[in-house]
Amino acid sequence: MKILVMGPPGAGKGSQSAKIMEHYDIPSISTGQMFRDAYNNNEKIGIEAMKYIENGNLVSDEITNEIVRLRLNKEDTLDSFILDGYPRTVAQAEALDDMLEERGTKLDAVINILSSHDVLFERMEKRRVCKDCGATYHLKFKPPVKEGVCDVCGGELYQRQDDTFESVKRRLEIYEDKTKPLLDYYEKKGTLYQVNGMQSFDNVYKDIVLVLEDLS
Ligand SMILES: [Zn+2]
Repeated sequence: MKILVMGPPGAGKGSQSAKIMEHYDIPSISTGQMFRDAYNNNEKIGIEAMKYIENGNLVSDEITNEIVRLRLNKEDTLDSFILDGYPRTVAQAEALDDMLEERGTKLDAVINILSSHDVLFERMEKRRVCKDCGATYHLKFKPPVKEGVCDVCGGELYQRQDDTFESVKRRLEIYEDKTKPLLDYYEKKGTLYQVNGMQSFDNVYKDIVLVLEDLS
């Protein structure tokens, strides 16, 4: 199973991907997490990427494709993976198709989580992330058991710098401009599936599972 979960920033791609990964026991390829890890490990690629992220910009295609290529070269992604936050531009989608074709494979499904901008703003303002393991929470839809503390590892929860109002607005504009065209790209390939994201986390997940069960 090789899938991609898409949707505007704040639609819950990361949380849904994490649950799919756990349920189906497949590795997640999260460019955001890989960049944060690389940054925390003081790697050059992470430091370069963070310059874009801190300003609310998309990391360049070149850097992003490179970190995905490195990840796809590892054996655990041979049969299954779930992409999270990549590709975000048509150029990245084409690069990904080339990388997969080199390996004699392709994406099985692209799942798009639909959501309105109002809902997205509310979601992002209340989003919290674990400093240690990257688990994501939402103060309203998916609160941690203990306030400010990660359920998974006990780490401290924080609000990401790119979750502020101005940054969210900018990310939505970039999404409309650069990422939305991807929907057409995958629609033409016949791999696009739409899921309603304006419902509870669990119901979005159920709808995603219906799509995935239909594939096999
Ligand atoms: Zn944690």
